[in-house]
Amino acid sequence: MAGRITFTIIKPGAVQNEHIGPILGKIAEAGFHIAGMKMVQLSRNEAQNFYCIHEDKPFFGELVEFMVSGPIVVALLEKDNAVEDFRKLIGSTDPKKAEPGTIRHMFAQSIQANAVHGSDSDENAIKESEYFFAGYEKFYKDKGGCLQGSMQ
Ligand code: UDP
Ligand code: MG
Repeated sequence: MAGRITFTIIKPGAVQNEHIGPILGKIAEAGFHIAGMKMVQLSRNEAQNFYCIHEDKPFFGELVEFMVSGPIVVALLEKDNAVEDFRKLIGSTDPKKAEPGTIRHMFAQSIQANAVHGSDSDENAIKESEYFFAGYEKFYKDKGGCLQGSMQ
């Protein structure tokens, strides 16, 4: 069964251009509960670790520089089928290929500055949310028999 959590980042660029409110509006409209949220400034080391899966890609260095270029908003989102539904809501990595109405189509500036991150699997959703949120920062709507603060 698909998991109920996913993790997102509103990236620099979208924060800089005052898109936090409109992006959160789209997320709420799509039926996601915000179970955790904060604004943070990543260090280079933190950005490298978050995107370590891409460390061999040619865009890695520039991606890290972009991710530390200003504050970001990180959020833990809760909904049935969260990972897949959120990936649909944000659209393709390259905003030129993103469907009209998707968050990236509406708010991305480029393939790098593409407004938002969305986890690509249940396993990564848990890993990524644990990278940014302690148990006492998580407020799930559906505790569903799980320990408060953990959806595992
Ligand atoms: N990215 C980039 N250039 C590329 C591909 C990706 O700068 O050619 C950046 C972009 O910000 C993207 C992130 O690297 O969101 C992670 O890439 P991934 O392929 O995982 O895309 P996503 O899962 O974010 O859609
Ligand atoms: Mg990805």
